[in-house]
Amino acid sequence: MTVKSNSSSGVVDTSSSPFAKLIALAFKEVHLKDGFWAAWRATTRREAIPYGQQKLIDSGAISNLEVAAGRRDGAFRNMRFADSDLYKWLEAASYELANSWDDELASRVTACVELAAEAQRSDGYLNTYYQLTNTQLANIEKRWTDLRHDHELYCAGHMFQAAVAHFRCTADTRFLDISKRFADHIDETFGPGKLESVPGHPEIEMALVELYRSTGEKRYLDLARFFIDYRGRGLIGGSPYHQDHCPVREAREMAGHAVRQLYLTSGMTDLYLETGESALLETLNRLWSDMTTEKMSITGGVGARHDRESFGESYELPNDRVYNETCAQIASVMWNWRMLLATGECRFADLMEWTLYNGVISGISLDGKSYFYPNPLVSRGTIERSGWFDCACCPPNVMRTLASLHNYFATKDANGLQIHLYDNCEIETSLPEGGEVRMVLETDYPWNPDVKLTVKAAAETGKKSEWTLSMRIPGWSSHPRIVVNGAEYSGELAPGSYAEIRRVWRTGDTVDLTFSMSPIFHEAHPYVEPARGCVALTRGPLVYCLEECDQESGGKVMDCGIDTDTPPQNQWREDQLGGVMTLDAKGFHESRENWQGKLYRRVEAGKAPSRTNVTLKAIPYYAWANRGKYPMSVWIPRA
Ligand SMILES: [Zn+2]
Repeated sequence: MTVKSNSSSGVVDTSSSPFAKLIALAFKEVHLKDGFWAAWRATTRREAIPYGQQKLIDSGAISNLEVAAGRRDGAFRNMRFADSDLYKWLEAASYELANSWDDELASRVTACVELAAEAQRSDGYLNTYYQLTNTQLANIEKRWTDLRHDHELYCAGHMFQAAVAHFRCTADTRFLDISKRFADHIDETFGPGKLESVPGHPEIEMALVELYRSTGEKRYLDLARFFIDYRGRGLIGGSPYHQDHCPVREAREMAGHAVRQLYLTSGMTDLYLETGESALLETLNRLWSDMTTEKMSITGGVGARHDRESFGESYELPNDRVYNETCAQIASVMWNWRMLLATGECRFADLMEWTLYNGVISGISLDGKSYFYPNPLVSRGTIERSGWFDCACCPPNVMRTLASLHNYFATKDANGLQIHLYDNCEIETSLPEGGEVRMVLETDYPWNPDVKLTVKAAAETGKKSEWTLSMRIPGWSSHPRIVVNGAEYSGELAPGSYAEIRRVWRTGDTVDLTFSMSPIFHEAHPYVEPARGCVALTRGPLVYCLEECDQESGGKVMDCGIDTDTPPQNQWREDQLGGVMTLDAKGFHESRENWQGKLYRRVEAGKAPSRTNVTLKAIPYYAWANRGKYPMSVWIPRA
């Protein structure tokens, strides 16, 4: 494999992965223009990243490194994995430097990298919790002795991911060099015949594969395989929480701590992309089916239980007590992206999109400064976002996802270019058979379904420049239609697949894609007990909810029911929640006056409750909890 100096490839670089169906585009090959995701990324850049840096200073994550570097005296502060919060922030800031260079942000990033270099021990080890703590349980002599709990390899993994991002986005090798020294130390320490154990929190697996892709050092790939192969042998206690309950290839269901499970499946997919081991892909497909048919909220949220932050049993998907950690939903996007790269199958892009719109951005406020850790589907009016968390995994995870979001939009292969997500953007890349191509996408997605693609420049070298443009027809859509240069496209068009348009593309060619984005009522499998008798409302890729502050005449969300025979009407509200499409649905308020002072009562035959017809106003789920503490519900009783 050849080592690329500054490929600037995005969150996963599959350009040299032998078993990748699709090649992730390089970072600067997709530019978001004015639109939905560009607005989110602007908020991330302007608000969340500076805010996050201040929080890292306040929480001690940066001072821990300063003490380890000998720049100041002090003790270790914060959670034992505080280093990882800083690394995730550095990853986000590095992506932003590639998006648009800023000297001040660059100097802040460089200062952190220099700090890490000074804090690193001469043998390559770097973990401030073990370097600064001096107790019987944790001190530098005790490093690598409590892999089940201590997150040393987890923090290392986040360092490697951040360093790879920093290298690809800046061409500066300093952070990558720090990571290589640490990875070499880990490689000298772990492996068959050496220390044979695995981390209690997966993360380093996918990071080592990316480090391999960026350096060409095969030992890092072998080390990733070791950490995957030795899992499930009971070396760290054998619990699902630590993902040690069974050898990974024998797994039958998604189990245990959701983020750990999903970081592991992401790492397994990265290993498959490099090795092509079919047993891995079979397992991953089996686990994906288990997750999506029995263990996922309608928002794409996963990890239903607060208890141990874990997946629940089949159909155990509560509304108020559902956990759905923001990080688990980000991890689901990461895994689906890798499965898409491995297979080219639309179902993975569908779920990636759905989770981005409903599961990921529900975790951050519209102003970028407050966050959800769990993402419940109902609120009684007591839930609000937090400015930060003692365990601050989610906020910087959201930042790195939004800062790199454009990277999930398109891919290429030997046949041509594939477009997976839609928003206003420009794509500029070179294709194996088609030469250089530049195209512009114009749309009002996710609010309206029309997408116009214009080829701005294409190599026109005769027959050989024929290539396939694949456009995703979302699985949730219906009645798709494509017009190429004004003529109806006659090829296959099916929701949940890609329209494959093969031709000699010329400058000025246009493609108009449209499909139905009518509101849809969804019901849950009857075994999802808390959703029985209820429906959830969606439109396009967005799940909707009722928030009490929007309901007319002070109507309470808990009194609402909905009429599913009348199609809801969408209405654009420029002045609300940063501009959203709301849905007005025919519904009713049910009187609760006879319930006063009672928790239960006898059912009286023939006595219907009194109802008042109302128009219910639904907003996108991601936008709730931005105007104060109000009751909210995704599932609404059906009339
Ligand atoms: Zn988290």
